[in-house]
Amino acid sequence: MTTNSNDDRETCCGDLSLEECHKAMEQLDELLDRDITPDDRIVLEKHLRLCDHCTEEYDLRSKAQEILRAKLCGDRCPDKLRASISALIHEECEGC
Ligand SMILES: [Zn+2]
Repeated sequence: MTTNSNDDRETCCGDLSLEECHKAMEQLDELLDRDITPDDRIVLEKHLRLCDHCTEEYDLRSKAQEILRAKLCGDRCPDKLRASISALIHEECEGC
């Protein structure tokens, strides 16, 4: 059974373009790593207020990061592990 609710939509959430969301997604990691410039942070936080999808993504990633940090290491997780986790998260967000 294949129910495809993800038609050929050009936008993600309302008026926000996929491009904006794509950029926001990339910056989420920078925000979580506190590796984001103040300007980017303002833009991203504004986007998060408008976009439920990216807000959910942010919650998901910050929770995943917290759990990983608590479980595996005090400060940093291995990049390889982080990469596989964000790959998993990206799979989940296919239905955007
Ligand atoms: Zn978005």
